[in-house]
Amino acid sequence: MRRSLVRVLKDKGITNEKVLAAIGTVPRHVFFDEIFDSHAYQDKAFPIAEGQTISQPYTVAFQSDLLEITPGSKILEVGTGSGYQCCVLLELGAEVITIEYKEKLSLLARQTLGQMGYHAHFLVGDGSQGYPQLGPYDGIIVTAGAPIQAIDPLVKQLKVGGKLIIPVGDLQTQKMLRISKVSKTEIVREEYNNFSFVPLLGDNGWTN
Ligand code: SAM
Repeated sequence: MRRSLVRVLKDKGITNEKVLAAIGTVPRHVFFDEIFDSHAYQDKAFPIAEGQTISQPYTVAFQSDLLEITPGSKILEVGTGSGYQCCVLLELGAEVITIEYKEKLSLLARQTLGQMGYHAHFLVGDGSQGYPQLGPYDGIIVTAGAPIQAIDPLVKQLKVGGKLIIPVGDLQTQKMLRISKVSKTEIVREEYNNFSFVPLLGDNGWTN
């Protein structure tokens, strides 16, 4: 089933072989309640606890590709959710710091990843402000739909050469952006397709 998911992602235009291998390795059904595990290898987002979602595999692959991870890259993920995206980043060789607003989700993800043998640094809090205490980062990936004001504080927490991958727009639709910090004072902004994420909460998000 994982192989057929990888074929679907290739057909949809994902070409990064390392990302495809990571998706082909991480068992997604582990993040589903047993009664729903027939949904696990469909290329769809799916509800998890606390009114949140596990991201669509295509979205996970798309954002992971844009990060251009190399082994040892230090990545901050904003929005741990189920922990699936975090596993894909770990499979790509990243060191992952993942922050989640909803404590229950963070605890569940920590438990699930622990049982799978993955190691990440789990934080609970408002990731709309990033997490400067452990920065600077080679990459920051935001997995919730953000307003424009979320960008600047996160860019400040990147190393020179680092990349912020963030869906920015309104509450319904967001454009995926890649913002690369090319020097201490310069950024390059690239704009990709439309996506539809659950809202980023917190001080630089939509609401508390
Ligand atoms: N990456 C997740 C996965 O693989 O399952 C999907 C994440 S889900 C689409 C978005 C997550 O962002 C939700 O779990 C939500 O609680 C979290 N979130 C929203 N605002 C946040 C914030 N300010 N800080 C941290 N997490 C936040």
